[in-house]
Amino acid sequence: MLHPDRLFPADPTIRAIARRLYEGVRDLPIVSPHGHTDPRWFAENSPFDNPATLFVVPDHYIFRMLYSQGVRLEDLGLRRLDGGPSERDPRKIWRRFAENYHLFRGTPTRLWLDHSFETLFGVTEPLSAANADSSFDVIDAALKTPAFRPRALFERFGIEAIATTESPLDSLKWHAMIRESGWKGRVITAYRPDPVVDPDFVGFGANVRAFGELTGEDTLSWPGYLAAHRKRRAFFKTFGATSSDHGHPSAATADLAAHEAEALFRRVLADAPSPADKELFRAQMLTEMAAMSVDDGLVMQIHPGSLRNHNPTLAAAFGRDTGHDIPTRTDYVRALKPLLDRFGNDADLTIVLFTLDETSYSRELAPLAGHYPALKLGPAWWFFDSPEGMMRFRELTTETAGFYNTVGFNDDTRAFPSIPARHDVARRVDCAYLANLVATHRLGEDEAREVAHDLAYSLAKKAYKL
Ligand SMILES: [Zn+2]
Repeated sequence: MLHPDRLFPADPTIRAIARRLYEGVRDLPIVSPHGHTDPRWFAENSPFDNPATLFVVPDHYIFRMLYSQGVRLEDLGLRRLDGGPSERDPRKIWRRFAENYHLFRGTPTRLWLDHSFETLFGVTEPLSAANADSSFDVIDAALKTPAFRPRALFERFGIEAIATTESPLDSLKWHAMIRESGWKGRVITAYRPDPVVDPDFVGFGANVRAFGELTGEDTLSWPGYLAAHRKRRAFFKTFGATSSDHGHPSAATADLAAHEAEALFRRVLADAPSPADKELFRAQMLTEMAAMSVDDGLVMQIHPGSLRNHNPTLAAAFGRDTGHDIPTRTDYVRALKPLLDRFGNDADLTIVLFTLDETSYSRELAPLAGHYPALKLGPAWWFFDSPEGMMRFRELTTETAGFYNTVGFNDDTRAFPSIPARHDVARRVDCAYLANLVATHRLGEDEAREVAHDLAYSLAKKAYKL
């Protein structure tokens, strides 16, 4: 399934250059500064249960596609919030997935899965109804062996460092267990405060109270609430955190006077705050987080522009992160101005911007990152974490922001076995892009080789202080 020239340009001259560049980066260690793997895997190092719960049940790329073609989420093993029946038999879930595998033709999911199945399990034919049972058996048997335990895979994948993402309310007990185990794999956390920052987050009020109990601060007062963040960020840093992450519906920022921010905080904690106040509070908090980053050095990531829970029926039945978050148009130039007016010129601060609105790359993001010392561009994200999405990212940003205002690749995934595949796709696409610059005599091959190395490895380490 894996052609050695996959994703390289079809033109033989350019393809030869891409091959040479790729040779130099293919085997570099994986640096994964942002993602959603479960630290419990590495803490307990227990075998993964079975092929279905490893590949199908947790992967919203997979079940959203199947859902779009009429497969019920219950039949893929997703748990209903009301406790209603859902499929428990992993083999049946796997069969449904395998018989629908053709739906993934042309998608990055297909590339990632084929790569995992072939390189990890020796499966050499695309999944289908015909091989559903045999592929299940092969993968299931492998998962029961020591070589497929989480830590063994971590080492086999050549992961130099990986960041998970936790709420401020998380005890980080799995990270503590990893550290106490003496295992040398570098698994660090990242501070994602949305549950206590976003008034639209389910349970926001209760979360803010729990935040107070956890930190011993009066989080119902504005100064106490900010102090709790500072404490928790420091605690996260003791578990290796080098970054925070903010998943807001927009990139809005605000810089209110302290007494205005305090009044706003009281309003969002009261019953039924207005949508405008909720948005203004998220906006103010991005600037507050930037201020804390100036002090404690955490790199700030902003992942805006996802309209979460677009499908209320699914949200009610299955909860959040179940495949119906949809990108929206996103403004950056005006939205970020209050934050940038205060911190944009700070070269010691790093704010990594992501987008789900590709029209913003050349119009807004590349000009912003190509000017403000505090800004860097995160890689193509989520719906654009794909060969074409990555190529469009380079084509639309490099001329204005160059390579060195970008931060390398993020796999941003909870699908652990797909991590090598995702980094490999990014390395191949970047080499393809660079090969074209070399072939059109805009960049020497020696320089392209250096850039390829930076994009695959060094930039992520540098930007995220790893
Ligand atoms: Zn993420």
